[in-house]
Amino acid sequence: MTPMTSAPPPRPLLNRRLAEFGTTIFAEMSALALSTGAINLGQGFPDTDGPEEVREAAVRALRDGRGNQYPPGPGVPELRTAIAAHQERTYGLAYDPDTEVLVTAGATEAIAASLLALVEPGDEVIALEPYYDSYAASIALAGGKRVPVTLRPSTEGGFHLDLDELRAAVTDRTRLLLLNTPHNPTGTVLSREELAAIAAIAVERDLLVVTDEVYEHLVFDGEHVPLASFPGMRERTVTISSAGKTFSFTGWKVGWVTGSPALVAAVRSAKQFLTYVSAGPFQYAIAEALALPESYFTGLRDDLRAKRDLLAAGLTDAGLTVHRPAGTYFITTDIRSLGESDGFAFCRSLPERVGVVAIPNAVFYDHKDEGAPFVRFAFCKQVPVLEEAVARLKRL
Ligand SMILES: *Cc1c(COP(=O)(O)O)cnc(C)c1O
Repeated sequence: MTPMTSAPPPRPLLNRRLAEFGTTIFAEMSALALSTGAINLGQGFPDTDGPEEVREAAVRALRDGRGNQYPPGPGVPELRTAIAAHQERTYGLAYDPDTEVLVTAGATEAIAASLLALVEPGDEVIALEPYYDSYAASIALAGGKRVPVTLRPSTEGGFHLDLDELRAAVTDRTRLLLLNTPHNPTGTVLSREELAAIAAIAVERDLLVVTDEVYEHLVFDGEHVPLASFPGMRERTVTISSAGKTFSFTGWKVGWVTGSPALVAAVRSAKQFLTYVSAGPFQYAIAEALALPESYFTGLRDDLRAKRDLLAAGLTDAGLTVHRPAGTYFITTDIRSLGESDGFAFCRSLPERVGVVAIPNAVFYDHKDEGAPFVRFAFCKQVPVLEEAVARLKRL
């Protein structure tokens, strides 16, 4: 018997907005690290925890019953006050802890909530390419159209933003600029001059800016300048940061937003229905962490700078072209100096060949061909781990 009509193809479970974001490369590469026993320099998390006194502060909060029930929606007052004090002390930016600071479930939620709050379906959102993987998904969830502006390697090393290309990418439909400095994965730290030019574009074209500054304390060369500090920017900029990278507690997921009352209220409108609140006791601990002496922040930076230098030298020795990062946890390399050109193939074979896992930068690009020869290695690992990785890479 043949059926009269054939059944329509089953409707895909995953909706159209998310269809292109199946599973991340991190899952594949971490599984490969496990099955081969390779050293995992793929994902960017430290392999040692942050300061003992901060961990103890979290234990104290738990024991004292602070934050074990729903904390206030905007975040506990102690943390909001500490965030405002940090912005004032570090950058001279004054924010009212009650109306201009919002605590989020990591920077990731802050990014998602900002885009969901500020973007209408069809709005264009400009993001620097290669981009952090959650940007594309968050823009898609908000119904926005992603417009990548590509950072390109320069002859003197490092990746650079072409300001003319950025200017040309702005259209009448552009709503928002999604910025990231220090930049993951390239390690680019935008200079004061570049930021001033970006600010001028935002003001001239009346754009909102969401700026991801989670690596603000991990700048090895140059300085971190918040975009919100430029003329005309305070009222149009949502600044995002997080305790994860600054205090080496990526599992706690304590992030925050600072901005004008109107912007923070808008982001809170979305945030309250994503998680409502999170990380109660950890919020108290991070309030104490933000008040650590300056020596903590410079110590973390100097430690990671030395690790950058160690891994950069090892990767150079192994025959890779190193694009020395000015900040972050990551080094981007170019594999063409090894006579190879496909970063995916390189990363899939690297664990078997030498016992190291890295990430193909192409996953952070819309223009896959632009990203093809680049491969990212994380150096936020203990020195002996990096030394062993360097020894293994020499076999390349
Ligand atoms: C790690 C990272 C984040 C995520 O921060 P969480 O606080 O862990 O959510 C956001 N942006 C960039 C660029 C990152 O590297």
